[in-house]
Amino acid sequence: MTAVITEHETRAAEYIRSVYEGVVRRNPYEPEFHQAVKEFTDTLLPVLAKHPHYIDQAVLERMVEPERLVTFRVPWVDDQGQIQVNRGFRVQFNSTLGPYKGGLRFHPSVNANIVKFLGFEQIYKNALTGQPIGGGKGGSDFDPKGKSDMEIMRFTQSFMTELYKYLGEDTDVPAGDIGVGAREIGYMFGQYKRIRGGNESGVLTGKGVRYGGSLGRTEATGYGCVYFVQEMLKFAGLSFEGSRVVVSGSGNVAIYAIEKAQQLGAHVVACSDSAGYIYDPEGIDLALLKQLKEKDRKRISEYVTVRPQATYTAGWEGIWTIPCEIALPCATQNEIDGEAAATLVRNGVKAVGEGANMPSTLEAIDIFLEHGVLFGPAKAANAGGVAVSALEMSQNSMRQSWTFEEVDGKLHQIMKNIYERAVVASEEYGCSGNLVAGANIAAFLHVADAMIAQGVV
Ligand code: GLU
Repeated sequence: MTAVITEHETRAAEYIRSVYEGVVRRNPYEPEFHQAVKEFTDTLLPVLAKHPHYIDQAVLERMVEPERLVTFRVPWVDDQGQIQVNRGFRVQFNSTLGPYKGGLRFHPSVNANIVKFLGFEQIYKNALTGQPIGGGKGGSDFDPKGKSDMEIMRFTQSFMTELYKYLGEDTDVPAGDIGVGAREIGYMFGQYKRIRGGNESGVLTGKGVRYGGSLGRTEATGYGCVYFVQEMLKFAGLSFEGSRVVVSGSGNVAIYAIEKAQQLGAHVVACSDSAGYIYDPEGIDLALLKQLKEKDRKRISEYVTVRPQATYTAGWEGIWTIPCEIALPCATQNEIDGEAAATLVRNGVKAVGEGANMPSTLEAIDIFLEHGVLFGPAKAANAGGVAVSALEMSQNSMRQSWTFEEVDGKLHQIMKNIYERAVVASEEYGCSGNLVAGANIAAFLHVADAMIAQGVV
């Protein structure tokens, strides 16, 4: 018996290695995509050893190859009358479970590597929500920082003038991500509607509530992350009440993670932007933060001019040296490396909930797991945003608008279910306590079985 299991394990390990090597060979210079694939596939050994038919069906080779990747030119004219050219992307990664679904990111770092890593993560995150949505992602290397409102509009209209060809409420449904919020979605929706005619309201999510958006979508990723961490804490007999919390970032995810954590009685002492971080020993003044970031679109350093008891430090990395019991990385990928993770552990961190996509490096994850830190991986912990996007799609199809309480209640239940699914899968496959493995395995089984049922397509 042992010999048979060993043989299957050897075959599974060999298969995982060869798929990963193939990804590196065929996608050179794409380190974040490699990292996302490695984090996922390395946890699948017990599944593939137990069910070798997934190997026979070449499921992993199919999963790591996007169904299609579109790149396109985005020309636009700036306020000085100069012509600017950016590059647009949309990866339609996997449509097994439903229309491609995933956000658009506008940031200078965006390239094929970044959208592929994000699109890959999105497939499994979306599967965990239990909703009928496939995985996609897109964006542009356009830098929204310092651009006027008119420049943002001209750029997003040009972007949509090309992207619309690939979209549709049953085909591909983008939303926001870094650099894309309600304003950009509004302009894109307007342009899509103008080109296509008619009002295909479910083609984008994260819309304004006056024209088909869902109440609760703005809050969903941050609230969802806190709901997920709440479940992890409950299991360990801990809670947000009275805990010291550090949240990185100050965008949409961070702001609403702070809001929910504060509502639950947490003491949130720090947050950041790409230039630096603030530490407020009396707790972050959320109204002020919202004013600065959501309305005035200012840098976080301005916070200390209003709150003199707070300090601002240039360089965001230092935020992880602030002692806390709960850390919520809500900024961007690879913001917690091995060193930052070791510092957090040394300072007594009990739980980490990933609000951003892939904010911890592979080394950081290992350190958290080795030290028994409750670790909520992004695919599970930040699925609340896309989950409410799917609820927005449902409301659009039904031509209904649900109340905030109804949407928030459903979000809360979805986050509890995701936690439950990850726990059950981790226990079934011999990796209790490891929600990275649990979430990956639950999502893999969900997508893989559906792929096999649909044949080789
Ligand atoms: N960009 C978000 C994410 O990373 C939301 C995607 C969506 O709502 O479609 O999941």
